[in-house]
Amino acid sequence: MLLVAWPGAEAQAAGRCGSHPWCDTSLSPAKRAALLLDALSPAERIGLLAGDSPAGVTGAAGTHTGAALGLPRLDLPPLYLTDGPVGVRQGQSTALPSSLALAASFNRRLARRDGALVGEEAKLKGNDVVYAPTINLLRTPLWGRAFESLGEDPYLTARLGVEWIRGAQARGVIANVKHFAVNNQEGVERADGTLAGSRYKVDARVDERTLAELYLSQFEAAVKEGRAGSVMCSYNRLNGPHTCESRWLLDQVLRKRWGFHGFVLADYGASKHVGSGLRAGLDFEPFPFVDFDGGEVYTPAAVQAALAAGRTTQAAVDRAVARLLRTLFAYRFFDRAAYVDDESRIDRAAHAQEARRLAEAGTVLLSNDGALPLDSKGLNSLAVIGADGDAYKNGGGSSNVQPYSVVTPREGIATRAGAGVDVRYDPGDDPARAAALARTADAAVVVVADTAGEGADKPCLALDCGAGLGPKRDELIERVAAANDRTVVVLETAGPVLTSWRNEVEAVVEAWYPGSGGGAAIARVLFGDVDPGGRLPATFPRRAADLPTAGNRRRYPGVGDTVRYSEGMLVGYRWYDQRGVEPAFPFGHGLSYTRFDFRDLHVRRHGRGATVSITVRNVGRRAGVAVPQLYLGLPDARGRVQPPRQLKGFESVSLRRGRRARVRFALDARAFSYWNARRDRWQIAPGCYQVEVGRSSTDIVARATLAMRQGRCR
Ligand code: BGC
Repeated sequence: MLLVAWPGAEAQAAGRCGSHPWCDTSLSPAKRAALLLDALSPAERIGLLAGDSPAGVTGAAGTHTGAALGLPRLDLPPLYLTDGPVGVRQGQSTALPSSLALAASFNRRLARRDGALVGEEAKLKGNDVVYAPTINLLRTPLWGRAFESLGEDPYLTARLGVEWIRGAQARGVIANVKHFAVNNQEGVERADGTLAGSRYKVDARVDERTLAELYLSQFEAAVKEGRAGSVMCSYNRLNGPHTCESRWLLDQVLRKRWGFHGFVLADYGASKHVGSGLRAGLDFEPFPFVDFDGGEVYTPAAVQAALAAGRTTQAAVDRAVARLLRTLFAYRFFDRAAYVDDESRIDRAAHAQEARRLAEAGTVLLSNDGALPLDSKGLNSLAVIGADGDAYKNGGGSSNVQPYSVVTPREGIATRAGAGVDVRYDPGDDPARAAALARTADAAVVVVADTAGEGADKPCLALDCGAGLGPKRDELIERVAAANDRTVVVLETAGPVLTSWRNEVEAVVEAWYPGSGGGAAIARVLFGDVDPGGRLPATFPRRAADLPTAGNRRRYPGVGDTVRYSEGMLVGYRWYDQRGVEPAFPFGHGLSYTRFDFRDLHVRRHGRGATVSITVRNVGRRAGVAVPQLYLGLPDARGRVQPPRQLKGFESVSLRRGRRARVRFALDARAFSYWNARRDRWQIAPGCYQVEVGRSSTDIVARATLAMRQGRCR
């Protein structure tokens, strides 16, 4: 009876809230949360601080990575949470290309579609929250989770992260952005099996400006623009405290500075102390079943003990529960039917196709002396070499999705080549035998992968690093290249690797961990059915010694559990540019099968912002993808050194032969600002700003200057 009296009763009909006062959808989420909180006993509130089931953490079908079982007494429904960034880790799912492959697309629209696909599958598998995206910066390509990141640039990461979140949340799940913050390494394995710079212990020491500009700005965008409903605090420490009990991070920055209204949950085992966690603003611990280094978890017993000892208060508990409930109300969790775990509704074929398209868009053509695209008509035989080419490749850990279906590179190439081409395969374990096979073929494609995953960093950047006594991939490439002039290397790597052989082969293609449809995507790129749409979201160094963190253990992996980010702003291409170090392949680099020219750069200032536009023309012989990138060089402000250029705009433009497009980049005040740590605010330095449009960070095609807060630039 009461139901019909309330506005919003229709919404309730589909929901599962019941007829409680907090089910009135005309009330604000905060009000509804307060009403529900009032109805809960203190013990029930405490019970809502933690998840209830460890069953799903292994990713088995029919389970969830996290589960909080709710309260039947008050019709509080169960809450289900799942990994993750490249697909749902719950039985089998569509395995998307790695996040770094998505970053390589430099394409906002695709990031949104990627998020939508994962959101959809998460929902159809009965989940309310998805632990994704991972938006930590790729500080070192040695990072075990490099494949899960969106690369080395905070602007690219922010733009794509925001779209991913929007895509996922539009499907009705809550995005949980991770890992907040400065979780940039897993640790390096020592001989005794322990980790140097372990993610569980390491204290990242970072100055405030670098934090604001490089390591936090993408989280800021995720909550302000993406409106992510929740944030996962990380394992590591940041300038002292563990992030899950850092008041500065969770309260001052996230809530006060950025106005975040959602809830914060802890990475698995990341909570340390009930008292300081609640005080800082850690609201929910989905997995209170492990603790690392004797941390205190949010189980009812531990919370009761903390209350009894005066280490926390009921008010602090209530605040955390209210934030969780408020978010659930705001994201309509109560006002809709429960999501049922029924994956028969997933359109696997459509999703497989989407995954393949995403892989194509993220594939980067690193070099090409003319071997590509392959022409099946002019080809009688093709050698496909390397066991990696006959396998599904992904990174390990919580993003290791079990795919519904897989097309391996070997299968994809054989299918695409067709009956007219004799495709011969060799696993490459014996380089001499593989070279002999390559010698007999018109062209050779060597597919090589690295090994990377959550839990440990790669011990080095060579292909075979971390793979134990497996095949010698670098040697394999060299032997095959010596045997066949038309040797193409296809990389399936977590991130940048060393490519010492790059000048000995005809073409190099970076396919990353390409997901379920990777083999078909690789084949379509090799045969030129699509233009490789990808550009590098991270720099490939020439030598390991060129990495910003090389040769400095304090910088990486740290000494005595402290890692000093003393390179400051000079991460990725900012470092190579500043130091004049030539990379093997620069940030933003990627070739096309057609040619583009860029002309008519125009810069117009308006107030504290500007619009930059340029015309891109496809002057080659076929359709292709151009990715003009806009970089700004900020003037040094009061002794604060600025990197020579920073990405502030990008666009992925598909153009048919002969077509042109005017590309516009809108620059807001933030684009021109640096973080003034003394004043705790963004500030525009007076001076001349270098405006550059490039094909990559080192291939600048048009330049201009722009005066801000001063007269003219000379
Ligand atoms: C990872 C998280 C993941 C969680 C649950 C942790 O080890 O760091 O990214 O969401 O496990 O699988």
